[in-house]
Amino acid sequence: METPAVNDIAASLSGEKLEVFRKLNLLEQHRVESFKDWPFPATASCSISKMAEAGFYWTGTKRENDTATCFVCGKTLDGWESEDDPWKEHHKHAPQCEFVKLACAEKDLTVSQFLEILGTVVKCNIEKTCKAFKLSFIRENEERLDEFMHNNK
Ligand SMILES: [Zn+2]
Repeated sequence: METPAVNDIAASLSGEKLEVFRKLNLLEQHRVESFKDWPFPATASCSISKMAEAGFYWTGTKRENDTATCFVCGKTLDGWESEDDPWKEHHKHAPQCEFVKLACAEKDLTVSQFLEILGTVVKCNIEKTCKAFKLSFIRENEERLDEFMHNNK
């Protein structure tokens, strides 16, 4: 029997909410869709669907197309080989990851597990945004201070 839990959440999303989910790569489907270019076929151990299942979305470029990042822990891995197992690699490089600890494909997650992951992702994202804001604030005001010092020499 199909476990509809997370699918139900996904199906109930629309408009702005769906875009937020997409931006955070919360859903496996969105992670699959993030892979614009991937050097491995669907038959490879690290196929797009297996990568997305293990939490990875594409962060590659045209020149380096084998780079992917975890939507929960933010670990970025490149240099994939076709026989690499995305879950194993994920666990090897980021054993602390909440998603790896569950080691569970989206379709098998319970709603409460999914919500916990959602909470972690949102929290990390807020922290990241705050850090970036702080940095840009410091940078901006550093420039002003430099300008002030320069003008008052
Ligand atoms: Zn991770």
